[in-house]
Amino acid sequence: MEAVISENVSIYYGNYEAVKGLTFKLHEGETLLLMGPNGAGKTTLLRTLAGFHKEYTGKLSIFGKPPHESKDLISYVPQSHYLNERVPLTVLEVVAMGQIYKKSFVHFKIPKEILKSAEEALSFVGLESIKDKLFKELSGGQKQRVLLARALISNPKLLLLDEPLSALDPSARAEVAGILNKIKKERGITMIITTHDVNPLTEIGDKVMLLNRELIAFGTPPEVLRDEIISRVYGSLS
Ligand code: ATP
Repeated sequence: MEAVISENVSIYYGNYEAVKGLTFKLHEGETLLLMGPNGAGKTTLLRTLAGFHKEYTGKLSIFGKPPHESKDLISYVPQSHYLNERVPLTVLEVVAMGQIYKKSFVHFKIPKEILKSAEEALSFVGLESIKDKLFKELSGGQKQRVLLARALISNPKLLLLDEPLSALDPSARAEVAGILNKIKKERGITMIITTHDVNPLTEIGDKVMLLNRELIAFGTPPEVLRDEIISRVYGSLS
């Protein structure tokens, strides 16, 4: 089944056309690495697929439905996480929020079954032992893994990740890439990952898209990651 179909999609902020005439398909279970220079429209595309940004023309379909009707199927992990670190949430509470937000609890005593799912999600990312630590005290790599656990507890079919590897040192980057690989292999979740550096993700990426407001290239990594294509958007590499 097609997980994502985009047919001639243009995305706007008022009169500004941030993404122009984008056509591509992603099959269920595939991972797409979304690349492009700053301002290319990567975050805009992810937010539109997630159903947050609605100013677009053309046809978008997520597992057969428009984005705003597919919210239960999608988890979105934003680039810089919007957690107010002055609120002293534990790791387990942060993960549980992935369900609580979806179910719209406002004042919460977290229900037992959600805590249990949160523990399972934490164990999937290898962090069950620090579930009672404060989130704000974790390293950047640990925080990113907690946010992956939070995105997983609602059992999404499509995971949208905005630069999950940015601002991490090489070993944390490898750890997070390892978990993304595990999500792909063990859960078969379709993923779209924006990144400036494909190297840690080459094992995971089935497809690569090079975007610079319009589609520059889309295909398998060897088809797209060629000097003559990359240099069209990033300039000469040598
Ligand atoms: P980066 O790699 O720097 O994160 P990006 O590829 O994710 O860049 P976007 O953040 O999607 O790029 O931005 C695409 C274009 O849309 C930019 O020109 C940006 O200025 C514009 N833009 C983004 N958000 C808004 C907004 N809320 N209102 C108006 N214009 C916006």
